Amino acid sequence: MMEEKKYDVIILGGGAAGMTAGIYLGRSKVNAVVLDTGTVGGQMVLTYEIANYPGVELTTGYQLSSTMKKQAKSFGCQIKTNVKITDLSLDGAEKTVTVGDKTIYKAPALIIATGGRSRMLNVPGETEFKGRGISYCATCDGDFFQDKEIIVVGGGNSALEEAVALTKYASKVTILHEFDHFQAFEHAVEEVKANAKIDFIMESHIIEFWGDESLRGVKYKNLKTGEVHEKAIDGVFIFIGYEANTDMIKNTPVELNSRNEIAASEKMETNLPGVFAAGDCRAKQFRQITTAVSDGTIAALNAINYIHGK
Ligand SMILES: Cc1cc2nc3c(=O)[nH]c(=O)nc-3n(C[C@H](O)[C@H](O)[C@H](O)COP(=O)(O)OP(=O)(O)OC[C@H]3O[C@@H](n4cnc5c(N)ncnc54)[C@H](O)[C@@H]3O)c2cc1C
Repeated sequence: MMEEKKYDVIILGGGAAGMTAGIYLGRSKVNAVVLDTGTVGGQMVLTYEIANYPGVELTTGYQLSSTMKKQAKSFGCQIKTNVKITDLSLDGAEKTVTVGDKTIYKAPALIIATGGRSRMLNVPGETEFKGRGISYCATCDGDFFQDKEIIVVGGGNSALEEAVALTKYASKVTILHEFDHFQAFEHAVEEVKANAKIDFIMESHIIEFWGDESLRGVKYKNLKTGEVHEKAIDGVFIFIGYEANTDMIKNTPVELNSRNEIAASEKMETNLPGVFAAGDCRAKQFRQITTAVSDGTIAALNAINYIHGK
């Protein structure tokens, strides 16, 4: 026998977007629940230092997400972590989320805030050495590389910022990037260029990881000359962008674009009435904590309008 739990709004995902929606809904006395398949905090928890969140000079991702969680809970938003979602029905007037084989959550409105995950290079050896020298999270694994030599793959803001953070541990950080320039903010580019511990391999791709029980090195190809080189290395951190966490949404009538990101309007409305999308899971130009927080705010306020028939 299924236990039924009724809410005004269900929020899928408790990252910056979902938690902000929870804060706004709770503060408006709207009965809301966050259902997260992991622990809340999302990508914030993977970020070593956050220096660009307005009003907070410098903080860790863990600290910022803990404060958001505390704030949402203090306004009455419920938070359920590590849930196993077994069914999702979004097209009726009542949206339902089945968790395990015991509980069915029901609400007239639902906000999808399932965020994204790091993209893999998908080259030989990557899966084998993942967690044994290959990482996608400086905060989680940086400490393992004290006085070691590492490579950071990527040329966007995340790659450059995390490369600088990793110099606190590593003796040397080599940034390996496929183009001859970076796609990052100017201050981030200046910071890596000024750091004596950082050097660069440009216009190159890693084509293979090799090692024994741990990663020992990489083969990389210069894309201009076609030459293949080998480099012994202790660790590789990969920051080459993201994929939206929409695997579960693919089985619903919610409209996705060709990159599997949710198509939502300026009001965060999807093509389904009462279903909103916020944060990195939706199609948009910039993916930052500030933009996720903005999306979460707009989605929550429009979900309130929706349930009040406005
Ligand atoms: C290494 C790194 C460094 C970064 N540095 C910065 C920075 O310095 N400043 C900045 O502003 N931004 C930074 N960003 C980007 C920023 O962290 C993200 O844009 C922002 O946190 C996205 O928030 P979100 O809530 O949309 O998604 P996420 O943070 O991805 O949260 C999504 C949540 O949904 C949960 N979830 C996933 N699938 C499901 C499902 N099917 N059902 C229920 N729950 C689900 C996940 O467990 C997660 O908790 C960085 C990102 C990375 C990876």
